[in-house]
Amino acid sequence: MATDYLSLLNTSQAAAVMQTEGPCMIIAGAGSGKTRVLTYRIAHLLEQGVDPFNILALTFTNKAAKEMRARVEKVVGPNARNLWMGTFHSVFAKILRSEADKIGYPRSFTIYDSQDSKTLVGQIVKELELDDKLYKPSLVLGRISAAKNKLISVNQYLNDPAIKADDEAALRPKIGVLYQQYQQRCFKAGAMDFDDLLYQTNVLFKEHTDVLNKYQNMFRFVMVDEYQDTNYSQYLITRKLAAKERNICVVGDDAQSIYAFRGADISNILNFEKDYPELNIFKLEQNYRSTKNIVWAANSVIKNNQAQLRKDVFSENEEGTLIEVLKAASDNEEGKLVANSIFEDKMNHHLSYDDFAILYRTNAQSRAMEESLRKLNIKYKIVGGLSFYQRKEIKDLVAYLRLTVNPNDEQALRRVINYPKRGIGDTTISKLINVAEESNHSFWEVVSSAEQFLPARVSNPVVGFAEKIKSYTVLAGKEDAFEAAKFIAKNSGMLEELYADKSIEGLSRYENIQELLNGIKEYVDDPEREDKSLGAFLQDIALVTDTDLKDAAQDGEAVTLMTIHSAKGLEFRNVYIVGMEENLFPSQMMITSRADLEEERRLFYVAITRAEKKLTLSYATSRYQWGNLRSCEKSRFLDEIDPRYVHFKFAAGTPGAGQPDPTFQHVFERRSNLLPTPVRKTAATKYVAPADFAPSDTSNLQSGQRVEHPKFGFGTVSALETQQGTTKATILFEEVGEKVLLLSFAKLRVL
Ligand code: ATP
Ligand code: MG
Repeated sequence: MATDYLSLLNTSQAAAVMQTEGPCMIIAGAGSGKTRVLTYRIAHLLEQGVDPFNILALTFTNKAAKEMRARVEKVVGPNARNLWMGTFHSVFAKILRSEADKIGYPRSFTIYDSQDSKTLVGQIVKELELDDKLYKPSLVLGRISAAKNKLISVNQYLNDPAIKADDEAALRPKIGVLYQQYQQRCFKAGAMDFDDLLYQTNVLFKEHTDVLNKYQNMFRFVMVDEYQDTNYSQYLITRKLAAKERNICVVGDDAQSIYAFRGADISNILNFEKDYPELNIFKLEQNYRSTKNIVWAANSVIKNNQAQLRKDVFSENEEGTLIEVLKAASDNEEGKLVANSIFEDKMNHHLSYDDFAILYRTNAQSRAMEESLRKLNIKYKIVGGLSFYQRKEIKDLVAYLRLTVNPNDEQALRRVINYPKRGIGDTTISKLINVAEESNHSFWEVVSSAEQFLPARVSNPVVGFAEKIKSYTVLAGKEDAFEAAKFIAKNSGMLEELYADKSIEGLSRYENIQELLNGIKEYVDDPEREDKSLGAFLQDIALVTDTDLKDAAQDGEAVTLMTIHSAKGLEFRNVYIVGMEENLFPSQMMITSRADLEEERRLFYVAITRAEKKLTLSYATSRYQWGNLRSCEKSRFLDEIDPRYVHFKFAAGTPGAGQPDPTFQHVFERRSNLLPTPVRKTAATKYVAPADFAPSDTSNLQSGQRVEHPKFGFGTVSALETQQGTTKATILFEEVGEKVLLLSFAKLRVL
């Protein structure tokens, strides 16, 4: 049993698993088993007797961490539960929970989500009387975030002449001041934003070598998945942690680096070789996920990038069906084509809707897809978009809970100080904020002693509110998260307020609150959960990434809809990449340079390589944008796929249906000039049935016989199955791959 797992790996994978000492890097293509290697490497370490508390594994999403833990548990048993495993943000938030006081934050610090951050920046811009069109919160935050990810402190920002020149050239000289104010306000509110979780960890490790030492001794083995998407701040954390033992193993694929816009830095891979000259590098070249056609197509696309480490990814899986391209006249028709195709494939191949994913470049593209899926009664789930925790009523109750755990949380306090209405007007709130600013106290400190600054008539409701929150804090110290939250939902007046609204939306808001309470109940009922406090629960939900909601929404089988960014690391049997049009993919917003175009192309590579058996690409020749119907041009990426692996298909109503699309003429021409490798045995042109096609009697049809079908062309029968008098034939067609057909309807000609 002990080394059983090694038989589930190829030679290079096994070598990487066994190399547990010293630095290791695996830079390999998509689907080549990188994540699998990490998983078995952890299992191997545990089998060798390494204490799970000494292993730190960093993944890209919480879902990936969960899956990895489950897989390790399968090999080694419950010992796997004690591993340190999670996203960078969740692991270091956990560490900061016990160390934050050393850098001046409360241990019960709040995690501001991006909406909190935006609101706060908006408030500061207003207070400083800056032009809010010039200093848009999202833009300002983008600059602050970039600075933090490069570990540029407020002081460095304010004093760096190059940064200053940059901001001045962009006509936004006050960004540094905004960064300073923003940091001060977060600090005063006992709050960290997402970037702070990494930034402050770096500060902690830099200023407190004893703390760093402690974690260096603890994490004797460090592992990082999706290393190509780490930023400088993350790079430095892992480097520091591994500095003593130097047992660090990173896996990634430079061809899948898609977060440069968020500060991910490909030079982290190059630095790695410099940091660890004794490095062991492993190459994995076999893709186990996808058919040959999909792997070949992906290779032919990524070849167009100049900045790429050379890799030859191959597959020994079946050749599979050609990549299908659907052309539609409009975005709605595109939705229809995709929905129909899913419906047909599910029926023909006895698939589950879980086998399908529709990927798009931007969230807004989901609408047309959703409509068509609904019309065909196909269940689907959307990953990302407006998530549960972004709904107003949920944010309101969560604000109460946050305030309970950390009353200094300014954004939470502002959100609910007068919700439900309790007679605290905007003027009163502004007054209190001014007092806080001038006296350098937090907003909460002023609120909880409002009687000192305001006449009794005005201060009474404020003081009453503060008393309420204080009593919640006391309660949360004694009760678990569920008991505390239930009490707060009622006592705050929120439940009553929502219950009184009898509209459909009101009802659904009330149900959402119940759903949140259900979630908290489940959280505290989990027998493996040690810390059932409200603070622990809040930390958990603050770190739910959009991608993780994929599981939360699970309720029976359903087609998954998501952006390509959220699809990283995942795999699906059949994948649809929709909106293959210029200005949409590649995105117009993103391409201003060759580097940007290359990032878009890597994104396309990620999308293609999610598919196991079948890949379909679609585009529309017109689409609504900002309320106007615009004509669209097909994406340049479609032309980049080697035409040997593609089959173009057109909607029935499209002009030129059934004919080669003239816009693809050059592709067909290129096809004939291609070198003969790698092999594709059948021509990728559409099969046309002969005029005299006549079906045969199939009552004696045998497995292994060759047949011809009026639509699917030539194929070989691979299986026959009769149930209750109905015979189904599984036929492997040369052009369209495997189909299961009902024999009585199939109109086959036996050859
Ligand atoms: P990505 O780059 O997309 O993150 P990856 O390199 O991490 O991909 P995995 O997800 O680990 O690849 O593996 C891809 C698929 O191939 C998985 O379903 C995995 O179980 C399977 N696989 C990997 N190695 C083997 C193997 N040696 N034998 C059988 N299946 C394998
Ligand atoms: Mg992976």
